[in-house]
Amino acid sequence: MTDAPVIRTQNLTKTYKNVRALRSLDLEVPRNSIFGFLGPNGAGKTTTIKLLLGLVRPTAGTAEVFGHDIVGDTIDVRRRIGYLPQEPRYYEHLTARETLRFTARFFYQGPAPAIERRVAETLELVGLSDRADRPVKGFSSGERQRLGIGQAQVSNPDLLILDEPAASLDPMGRRDVLAIMERLRERATVFYSTHILDDVQRVSDTVAILNRGELIARAPIEELLVGSEGVAYSVVLRGEAAEARSRVANQPWVSEIHASTENGRTEWLVRVTDTEAAEAQLLRVILADERVNVAAFGRRTYELEEVFMNLVEENGNGDD
Ligand code: ATP
Repeated sequence: MTDAPVIRTQNLTKTYKNVRALRSLDLEVPRNSIFGFLGPNGAGKTTTIKLLLGLVRPTAGTAEVFGHDIVGDTIDVRRRIGYLPQEPRYYEHLTARETLRFTARFFYQGPAPAIERRVAETLELVGLSDRADRPVKGFSSGERQRLGIGQAQVSNPDLLILDEPAASLDPMGRRDVLAIMERLRERATVFYSTHILDDVQRVSDTVAILNRGELIARAPIEELLVGSEGVAYSVVLRGEAAEARSRVANQPWVSEIHASTENGRTEWLVRVTDTEAAEAQLLRVILADERVNVAAFGRRTYELEEVFMNLVEENGNGDD
């Protein structure tokens, strides 16, 4: 049972009047993962989150959270989830501590000291201990967002659903929020939506990419970054490299070499079919020619931005 996915959706579909916001989504989110739900504006991310929380009803399909049906067992589902909305709202005159205390009382009937302890732990986790007794109205966007994450997790939920937790923040604020998410995953599953490629690259284990209501990829982040055309190695060289190049091209595990020259520096992008052979032999084959020096060598990964663009193009970007 412990290996059962935290979220499982089957054919989950939502149509608003004539807008097909989400089409037949099949998704499984593993326990204790950080799952990045990536897509451009209007892709259907918020719709999916609202469906999971039972805030809107599916037009078709089903979903379970911890084995509870999102339509029939909404209360059981919500009890296990901490949620950060896209734009958290606060009572501006309350302090951060009062805000968290207020939320914690929704969940704990226990003694006041236990609530205070939980609130203090949460303030610490989100880095607001030193501002705990200031009214929220003076908080920066980053502090507000961190308070929102604090609210989402003050009840110790097993699943955190965060809608664009870092979207409105500057790089420092985003770094702080991502660091908090890393800490949260030690005891919970984190499912978050974003349109920022860099963020999913930094903190996700698995990424699902949604475009126009459709899932166009779902994979561990390293797999997505390898790219659909396979693995390539980048070699930066100096010297007389023409012969070395044809020798490399003749290796059975090399499928393509793309060469470019800039400021007397040549870079090859060597696409291979066998990474073990490439790592054992590529440099040896090149350096067997003494007229060639290698200045840099490494496996080339794709940037998520490229992966995303390729996937969107492959899946067609026109209207249905
Ligand atoms: P963003 O990053 O901009 O928040 P998103 O990926 O969260 O985008 P959704 O908010 O889920 O996207 O919206 C998906 C589509 O559904 C959009 O075309 C949106 O206009 C439409 N939509 C969402 N809510 C409603 C609604 N209540 N009524 C009609 N259409 C809606």
